[in-house]
Amino acid sequence: MNKPRVERKHSSGACQTFKNPEEFSSGFFFAVNFLRKLTGGFVMILVLAQGTSRQDLERLKEILRSEGHMVKEIGGVEDQVLGIVGKNYKEASYYESLPGVQKAVPISKPYKLVSRELHPAPSVIKVGDVAIGGDRLVVIAGPCGVEGKKTTMDIAREVRRHGAVLFRGGAFKPRTSPYAFQGMGEEGLKILREVREETGLGIVTEMTSPGQADLMMKYVDVVQIGARNMQNFELLKSVGRIGKPVLLKRGLSATIEEWLMSAEYILSEGNDQVILCERGIRTFERYTRNTLDLTAVPVIKKLTHLPIIVDPSHATGRREKVSPMARAAIAAGADGLIIEVHTDPDKALSDGPQSLYPQQFEQLMRDLYVIAPVVGKQLDYAYLDKAEIMKPRPEGHRAPATVVYSGVPGSFSHKACLQFFGGEVPLNNCASFKEVFEMVESEQAAFGVVPVENSLTGSIHENYDLLLDYDLKIAGEVTLRIKHNLMGVANARTEEVKRVYSHPQAFQQCREYLEKNPGWDLVAYKDTASAIQRVKESADPGEAAIGEGSEPLAGMAVLKEGIETNPRNFTRFVVITRNESIPGPRNKSSIIYSVSDKPGALFETLGIFAANNINIVKLESRPIHSRPWVYMFYVDLEMDMAEEGNKAIMDELIEKTEFFKFLGSYNKGLQEKP
Ligand code: PEP
Ligand code: MN
Repeated sequence: MNKPRVERKHSSGACQTFKNPEEFSSGFFFAVNFLRKLTGGFVMILVLAQGTSRQDLERLKEILRSEGHMVKEIGGVEDQVLGIVGKNYKEASYYESLPGVQKAVPISKPYKLVSRELHPAPSVIKVGDVAIGGDRLVVIAGPCGVEGKKTTMDIAREVRRHGAVLFRGGAFKPRTSPYAFQGMGEEGLKILREVREETGLGIVTEMTSPGQADLMMKYVDVVQIGARNMQNFELLKSVGRIGKPVLLKRGLSATIEEWLMSAEYILSEGNDQVILCERGIRTFERYTRNTLDLTAVPVIKKLTHLPIIVDPSHATGRREKVSPMARAAIAAGADGLIIEVHTDPDKALSDGPQSLYPQQFEQLMRDLYVIAPVVGKQLDYAYLDKAEIMKPRPEGHRAPATVVYSGVPGSFSHKACLQFFGGEVPLNNCASFKEVFEMVESEQAAFGVVPVENSLTGSIHENYDLLLDYDLKIAGEVTLRIKHNLMGVANARTEEVKRVYSHPQAFQQCREYLEKNPGWDLVAYKDTASAIQRVKESADPGEAAIGEGSEPLAGMAVLKEGIETNPRNFTRFVVITRNESIPGPRNKSSIIYSVSDKPGALFETLGIFAANNINIVKLESRPIHSRPWVYMFYVDLEMDMAEEGNKAIMDELIEKTEFFKFLGSYNKGLQEKP
């Protein structure tokens, strides 16, 4: 058995990790404070040659420092990268002549700390258990302003129930008219604190003046800078010093560059936890309150590592326009949304016409649940509850809060773990599905994640058999869209390809495309991520790999994008455990059974489901290995079979079957209305 590797995903990456405290004792801002004091200072990125040792790296840093540069190690996605701040400008070619430097790239943009050039990996901003910019969408919802305790609490319960993970509500309202409702001030903040205590939702609220800094420290989880204050530089500096995550809205007429310069102000004060928020800009169009600039989403994603969310409420100003634009924002690649919701919008003291009714919010969230996997993300209704079960546990107490999967980092199984549990959970990987089952059974890991079926190629039989053999339960499921690209080494061309590496399942999923290239040698590999890695290492333009790789991440060329036979290509993974449970509703159950070899035996068992109005979502038969032509039936049902009220159904099934195994009840994802 391969020794399982412990690995963790990048979190907010280099923003927070200065390897040598003497160099940059307090993060990015030290570099920029230094930069600000300089006239003609410059920032350059040095990409190091592959395989540069720690010793060589230290030597290089020594040289750079002796020449008066400030040096920062940056966690590049693929490469080792240094950021340097210098005083006397030298050409890139000078740095490229230094030992260990492969490439030097001057940061040409006026914004430095927020730029992707300096920090290639996306930043993930943590707000309690919520990670903004990770694999799961973050939806912030609540009223425009806090108007009173009862209404605020009612709204909070509703939005929490439908999948919001943070709560919004202004206590200081910057209104266009001085006669309009100005917010409840500290009284409002106290109500928000109660919301957090009761629901567990972190609080997002607007700060309108530096004088409110202490109140923000006391009551708030994310400080919002409103559109009208985007260029209030004293306020930006103040939130830069507060050190809490900041939601920075785009100004009413701000260009993207001006917006990023405002973010730069916050980072330059030492606070790198900035979330950008597109909320519509002012154009000649008056039909909607503002014009939602969704192009900002991909533009921002390219220019900066900071996450971006979208506010369709202020962007449109009209309730019926909010959901369409929210769906579009997620499809465009936004990391989340901030949405105004009110239980009685007609009576709202501000922004009633753009506030969704809770039922509309519920429907929107259901739509987002469907859209998210298409763009490689998830909407997780059990987000906050799950965080609790994955907290580190005392030594010797049950299995460690670890999740195990088969394959290498970057594989689809790895992605399924990140999408179900989030990026912070410790992951173990091993070399086979059987090892995943073994590690979970022996409680070396609390949970395992394995694929069970694909929408194009059907069941992954090995895992169905393992579910039968091991005494483990299914505690959850997660579905991923599987998109395959043909990846070659940089500068390779499809015409040169002779050999293609990938997992056999991927070959099957790309069958039609591969049939058009009958000359290619198809070489089976253990998973798609290692196939890509192999080709990259070979540096041979005659080799290609099929997998999810992207050019910037894998450092290779995408020879052909989306080669799966049908783009509706989804794989369902199940979460297995020995005896842990995942909080949340249980609306799906899985069972395995066999029936006696007589006419109508299967029909009789199916009759039990019909009589009890239970929907069968999957029925599959598998041969029993030791008994030729005898079958096990694997059944997924839309119900909670473990519920006390359903005991009679289970008993009847046990009676009418020869063999019966209950695999578990779990959440199929969508929230059931209590
Ligand atoms: C708000 O979020 O309620 C608000 C005032 O937003 P904006 O600053 O985008 O107008
Ligand atoms: Mn508002």
